[in-house]
Amino acid sequence: MEKYLDLRNKLDFNGIEAAANVIKSGGLVLFPTETVYGLGANGLDENAVKNIFIAKGRKQDNPLILHVSSYEMVEKIATDISDIERQLMEAFWPGPFTIVLNKKEIVPSSVTGGLDTVGVRMPSNKIAHELIHLSDTPIAAPSANISGKPSGTNLQDIFGELADKVDFIIDGGECKVGVESTVVRVINNIPVILRPGGITPEMIQEVIGVVEVDKHILGKVEEGEKVMSPGMKYRHYAPNSKCILVYSEDNLKLVDKIKKITSEYKNPLVISSTENKNLYNISNVIDMGSKNNLSEIAQNIFTILRKVDSYNPDIVVIEGVPNEGIGLAIMNRLIRACEYNLQIV
Ligand code: AMP
Ligand code: MG
Repeated sequence: MEKYLDLRNKLDFNGIEAAANVIKSGGLVLFPTETVYGLGANGLDENAVKNIFIAKGRKQDNPLILHVSSYEMVEKIATDISDIERQLMEAFWPGPFTIVLNKKEIVPSSVTGGLDTVGVRMPSNKIAHELIHLSDTPIAAPSANISGKPSGTNLQDIFGELADKVDFIIDGGECKVGVESTVVRVINNIPVILRPGGITPEMIQEVIGVVEVDKHILGKVEEGEKVMSPGMKYRHYAPNSKCILVYSEDNLKLVDKIKKITSEYKNPLVISSTENKNLYNISNVIDMGSKNNLSEIAQNIFTILRKVDSYNPDIVVIEGVPNEGIGLAIMNRLIRACEYNLQIV
């Protein structure tokens, strides 16, 4: 059986059936979504799900999101869905939005890390949608990366670390959003963002009239502290090199501070906005995109974080972005890439 299916720039989805058969028979499929690539398996098959944890080296208590292609599938796995939860699904599905619901018995506890809730998402990417539909089962799919590494937003970035661990690969080109989905749990009728992503707090506020952001999104989780979203606890997205995130509302101050930091090192690397990239008089500067286009930065950020170590830098300094819109998701990933080493000037 051919293992690789190239669907870049293709409008017909012939061949997805083969990938769906792999899912049905308990195998692992690497596939594109609009957020990042997913490492998928039949979400109702305990053994298949266990293989995801093994392939990624993921901690058992870090729950997986179940990806669905219809509301019928939602009803199969979740119960006691409130009006607000339905409103959120209708507003943001299909799309980069995950809602944490009360789970039904049919969902194996290995999927939910032992929790009695389950994260559910309906992706908008057509390849992902067709794969779930043809598999005729919710697909458990964490981001496709070895645990701790930046997520994969194109196949080239992750092929080396995952190709020999999966049974089928679908190449769908670059992911549009570039950061993972927004994870929300509705608590006392208030949508609480547990992980920021493609759907912004502003968008949720507009639909429901109220939104809260969990304090751990930009803050450190202390040893032993209880969190609502287990993924918050783990080291993630971090290059091997030491990284510092610097933010200022004042661009001159930002550039000055970064120049000062880099002047103390022999081989510094700066991850800079397009606007500032010629202001640092050093040889290693990576352009992360225009600061007037945060969606572009979101799309590039994981590929850039994956490139960092190849410069062999003795320090990496990253320009922060405003916490607004998708900027919150970017800052959440960057703060963690920098292991909470943030300087605001
Ligand atoms: P990933 O699969 O890499 O996108 O990570 C999924 C993240 O979603 C996990 O790390 C959790 O933080 C969050 N998540 C998934 N399911 C639940 C759940 N039932 N309750 C709370 N958070 C969840
Ligand atoms: Mg992940």
